[in-house]
Amino acid sequence: MVGSIDNEADFSTLGFSDIKKIVFNFEGVRLISSSGIQTWIKFFSGISESVSIEFVRSPLRIITQINLVLGFLFSKTVNINSFFAPNSCEECDDSKQILLETKAHFHNFAAPAAPVLNCDLCKKEIDFDRLEKKNFLFSKRLAA
Ligand SMILES: [Zn+2]
Repeated sequence: MVGSIDNEADFSTLGFSDIKKIVFNFEGVRLISSSGIQTWIKFFSGISESVSIEFVRSPLRIITQINLVLGFLFSKTVNINSFFAPNSCEECDDSKQILLETKAHFHNFAAPAAPVLNCDLCKKEIDFDRLEKKNFLFSKRLAA
């Protein structure tokens, strides 16, 4: 998906009959507005229960919506495969988005915590600033 999820968002052209699995790639989503969320929920809740759903490459803004907006995932079990975590290295003053793979980086879904990763430049341990524990709450909703 690319662009904004706002009041102009239109999911109605997507047809999902006879589909077993849907993978949503949110990497291109730059903005999500409150009216966009309503449109999203309406669309998302209409997906058949028999379809398995996976989210990949979600920016943190999507993860925040999942955590804060009751109903963003409706009552569905979603496999959040990977998401971007903002972080910075104090040593190199380098700020970037790291793609975290849920399966590789989160082993304990009951007590989610930022994974220990090292900066590729200076090898110092990465401080996941802005990435508070609450951002990992969603993992309790994952299919383990
Ligand atoms: Zn560094």
